[in-house]
Amino acid sequence: MPHELSPDTSFFAFSPDTKPALRVRQGEEVRLTTHDCFSGQLKSSTDTMEALDWSITNPATGPVYIEGAMPGDVLRIDLHEVKATGPSVMVALPKEGALGEFITQEETVILEHRGDTVVYKDRVVVQQKPMLGVIGVAPAEGVIPNSTPGIHGGNMDCTLITSHTRLYLTVGVEGALFGCGDMHAAMGDGEVVICGAETPGEVRFTPHVVEIPGLPTPFVETGDLVAVIGSAESVDAAYKLVLGMMHGFLTGVVGMTTNDAAMLMSLVGNLKFCQVVDPLVTVRFEFPKGVIGDYGYVFPR
Ligand code: CA
Ligand code: ZN
Repeated sequence: MPHELSPDTSFFAFSPDTKPALRVRQGEEVRLTTHDCFSGQLKSSTDTMEALDWSITNPATGPVYIEGAMPGDVLRIDLHEVKATGPSVMVALPKEGALGEFITQEETVILEHRGDTVVYKDRVVVQQKPMLGVIGVAPAEGVIPNSTPGIHGGNMDCTLITSHTRLYLTVGVEGALFGCGDMHAAMGDGEVVICGAETPGEVRFTPHVVEIPGLPTPFVETGDLVAVIGSAESVDAAYKLVLGMMHGFLTGVVGMTTNDAAMLMSLVGNLKFCQVVDPLVTVRFEFPKGVIGDYGYVFPR
């Protein structure tokens, strides 16, 4: 029997002091349902932000206490399924997001889910690629609102965090206190207007503590690539952070020379935006898994 949790147990900040909603052992499957990032407050195009209670935005379902996860451990979350249940909602808001200077009229759009697509104003049909915007663990100390990304995870809005991805995070407190939410049925890299197709959803995952000394986190592994995710106050600071993280992984964990790592990052790596609209900007650096294999590195299972 899998463990289940609904958005009735949501939290709005990653904190060492939040009481766990569920306790699980490593290797056990967990099924969560998640609210959309507005906690379902925007149900039609006439629902505007005026009446919105901002204190219940960006809910994450959890926290889940993972037995045996200790501070400093690397926690691997195997995302078996990230499924958007819909409908989705988007908003455009004057002065908000990276396009706010162009927007004079607030607007709410409900996107219908048809099969495995979302439909924008009955005109544009977009293939769903459901992803989790907010996903993370409690930091060792302090309280980080779910709106904010960081080394604990949080609001990274990374389009790689989808079905069949493995996300590696460093545990801050005993039990990790994992949670996730802010699912997008689809979203472009950058999240420029301030949102993706914001949807409620269902998530199935299994947690494991793994032994990978020196792994920079947050770290993502998909079928064909690895990526490090970094957040900072400026794009410059964020890209320098992820370049250092990936270079450190390739030299320190995979065992490449400094110059091999640097040249291969330039030859086959890709620097990409996650989002530029949250309190910190988030970027990632992607590198092909096959090239890590060429250097003999295999991830522990
Ligand atoms: Ca988000
Ligand atoms: Zn979102």
